[in-house]
Amino acid sequence: MPVLAESKLREQLLITSQQLVVLGLNKGTAGNASVRCGAGFLVTPSGLPMEQMSAASMVKMHWDGSFAADKKPSSEWRFHRDIMQNRPEVNAVIHTHSMFATSLACLHKDIPAFHYMIAIAGGDSIRCADYALFGSQDLSDKALAALAQRKACLLANHGMIALGRDLADALAVTQEVENLAEQYWRTLQIGAPKLLSEAQMQAVFQQFKGYGNWVI
Ligand code: 13P
Ligand code: ZN
Repeated sequence: MPVLAESKLREQLLITSQQLVVLGLNKGTAGNASVRCGAGFLVTPSGLPMEQMSAASMVKMHWDGSFAADKKPSSEWRFHRDIMQNRPEVNAVIHTHSMFATSLACLHKDIPAFHYMIAIAGGDSIRCADYALFGSQDLSDKALAALAQRKACLLANHGMIALGRDLADALAVTQEVENLAEQYWRTLQIGAPKLLSEAQMQAVFQQFKGYGNWVI
């Protein structure tokens, strides 16, 4: 990722937060987002609806969890921090309570290889992390485990997380995971989907090489 000035990253984080609302992926104070910035990261402020956020209200955090005394970072800063520390290829993290991903997460359901586009999340499933309290280290640990070799996971009784090499990539993954969650949910209304085999998914991964902007 090109090294962008903090001011530019603050603007991008605000625009991404606005897009999440415009696209119907987040409402009210639900969800948060972050982007790697210098020797740390920027994360959205806690408990503020997007309409009240500005580029200046994005919170600069250091890897040790410290931040300026007059700021309040997202209650989920731990998983934003832990993901970026453990996944050097990840420069942006988005968390939503979007409708269909959350509905499946309330059933503690993984999304299987019911559709080839599942590949954009990095494997043949999107796992659902076990339930843990929002804002807890336990939630961060469980999310990190569910994200192994993946760019997305569901969070039981809560929502989803999507990762990207930059904010645009993380937003694209978020949108597609929500699409997949809706398609899977709708399929389940009328029957049991026929899943793609391991060999069929291997062929999908090959076909995806160089397709669009996806990084798989
Ligand atoms: P924050 O407003 O603290 O980011 O919390 C929203 C949320 O989605 C918690 O999981
Ligand atoms: Zn949440």
